[in-house]
Amino acid sequence: PIALCWLRRDLRLDDNAALYHALKSGHPVLAVFIFDRIILDPLSDRHDRRVAFIHQQIHALQDQLTQLGSTLLVYYGEPLPIWKQIMQAMPLAGVYTNADYETYAKERDQQVQQLLAEQGIGFHAYKDQTIFDTDEVLTDAKKPYSVFGAYQRKWKANLTDFYVRSYPTQNYFNSFYKTAAQAIPSLASMKFKPVNESFPATQVSDQLLEHYAKNRDKPALEGTTQLSIHLRFGTISIRQLVRQAQAHSERFLTELIWRDFYFQILDHFPHVEHKPFRPNYEAVPWLNREEDIERWQQGMTGYPLVDAGMRQLNQVGWMHNRARLNAASFCIKHLLIDWRIGEAYFAQKLRDYDLAANNGNWQWVAGSGNDASPFFRVFNPVSQAKTFDPKEAYIREWIPEYGTPDYPKPMIEHTFARQRAIDTYRKALNRT
Ligand code: FAD
Repeated sequence: PIALCWLRRDLRLDDNAALYHALKSGHPVLAVFIFDRIILDPLSDRHDRRVAFIHQQIHALQDQLTQLGSTLLVYYGEPLPIWKQIMQAMPLAGVYTNADYETYAKERDQQVQQLLAEQGIGFHAYKDQTIFDTDEVLTDAKKPYSVFGAYQRKWKANLTDFYVRSYPTQNYFNSFYKTAAQAIPSLASMKFKPVNESFPATQVSDQLLEHYAKNRDKPALEGTTQLSIHLRFGTISIRQLVRQAQAHSERFLTELIWRDFYFQILDHFPHVEHKPFRPNYEAVPWLNREEDIERWQQGMTGYPLVDAGMRQLNQVGWMHNRARLNAASFCIKHLLIDWRIGEAYFAQKLRDYDLAANNGNWQWVAGSGNDASPFFRVFNPVSQAKTFDPKEAYIREWIPEYGTPDYPKPMIEHTFARQRAIDTYRKALNRT
């Protein structure tokens, strides 16, 4: 019988927990990937960077496995029927995979586990995309943390070399099942268009990390790692990256801890996917004006930092974190647009879209999430631009008509919008 390693958001052969355990199981191993129609069919834009990125990575994995005399089995369809098909096609010793914390994924895995169990086949899930599993960093009362500062302290206190050790999969590569390479469905056959863009490198220099703390907030610089797409799809190992962070940048380590933090929030409080983390925030009466939503999405608000960010998002599918904060704050606070509308737009456009991080950050900005600070924080997009883009280099890069009559005037006055947001929140939350 064969041990199958089901790859999902861990698209690499090196330092992969599930693959390591499969290779050590004593059975010949085949790797499997499913283009999941339940996820793909609802995507309205068929020119999708993420699907193209995954497709490219699947080809790269296929090349690596072919060189090892094996193959990647690639399917296109719904997971459950595909697993039925696989179970009929070959005798299975077990299925090895890395845990996923999204509700859809958890339900899917439970169904597959049950299906396999009916035939006595084990489903083995491992921690791979985070340093700590969601129940490994808890309060002294064994409760999940809901505020970052305390979580971070415990995370750091718990960290030992054990948690950042790589899984040496390469030592066991001769355990792959030897067979001819199989075909990969084309993007066109799945009704997606090719994307003629290159993606960021899979690594970051020590030098960038040395300057990370100083440069990370300046959107005109290439001061951040751009590794988000790789962390999203597991084309880089988080353990390797944390070791590099430990050696070169405490501040960068903090950002990676935020990532772990939001995974454990989503896992422990799955209601956040659709509802505010703090239920009383459901009472905020949003305006949700169509015209406002449209202007915000198109980067035509007349606030250059917000607009530069939105245009960067629309054009390249990535936005600098400082711009994300301002764009989200403007959407929620200045325009009183429900954070879920903004969140959904980012989800559609971001090449690094990740439910846990996107939802967590949107809720943080809305004030409804995991933030100890008061609800009345409203970013001032003018002073933010002055502080973080003093030479307007980022703004000019993304708004070619900036400074000409073609660029719109601010669609709403800041002082008015700020006060309106605070009053609206205060009333809805019964705060004085
Ligand atoms: P770097 O600064 O180099 O950081 C390295 C990595 O740390 C990132 O790739 C990411 O994995 C992690 N990270 C950094 N900041 C955060 C954070 N605040 N929360 C969680 N993880 C973090 N990040 C996503 O990966 N996917 C999203 O869908 C997403 N949506 C966001 C929405 C809003 C409104 C905001 C304010 C932030 C969002 N972020 C999201 C967090 C952050 O903006 C991006 O991770 C970062 O800009 C990616 O660029 P980078 O890889 O160069 O980041």
